[in-house]
Amino acid sequence: MKSFDLDSAIRKIPDFPHKGILFYDITGILTNPEAFAWCIDRMCEIYADRNIDSIACIEARGFVFAAPFAYRMGIPLVLVRKAGKLPGRIMKKEYSLEYGRATIEIQASDILPGQKVLVLDDLIATGGTLKAAVELIEEAGASVADIFGVIGLPFLNYHDVLKGYSITVLQEYY
Ligand code: AMP
Repeated sequence: MKSFDLDSAIRKIPDFPHKGILFYDITGILTNPEAFAWCIDRMCEIYADRNIDSIACIEARGFVFAAPFAYRMGIPLVLVRKAGKLPGRIMKKEYSLEYGRATIEIQASDILPGQKVLVLDDLIATGGTLKAAVELIEEAGASVADIFGVIGLPFLNYHDVLKGYSITVLQEYY
């Protein structure tokens, strides 16, 4: 597959949403069909022979990348949502944010015991959100095949938080 300058499609917005944070904005990928296609094609190439049974993705920007991937791979798409959005029997996990705590949820019947699940978010910062998602998936009896982020910020130590798991990112920033 041809290489692509993904960095050029990622907008960097200083001081958003708080002073001192450099925000990596993936909307520059979504509005660039060549960049978006390259991301999905690359994901399909990476996971072609990995026997992934389903993909679980984090609200909301994770949904955007996971949906075309699930369609292309012909696998179930599982939504990991913020508290109170999913109906029916749910499983939930509370986790720490920079300030305060948050809760994510999945529908209990969406993850089947024994499945190999790919877990995706648009960007991996501290890894806290993905760690909570990984714990939910494991509590449901499935295993995590890989953790994927379009962007990774390893200086925020996600390798420590997600220690022991295989992690793939398309673009790293230091
Ligand atoms: P974390 O749980 O710390 O890995 O945070 C991950 C979530 O926060 C992802 O869903 C990202 O969309 C968002 N996020 C955190 N830091 C940034 C950043 N510098 N730029 C863009 N999004 C970010």
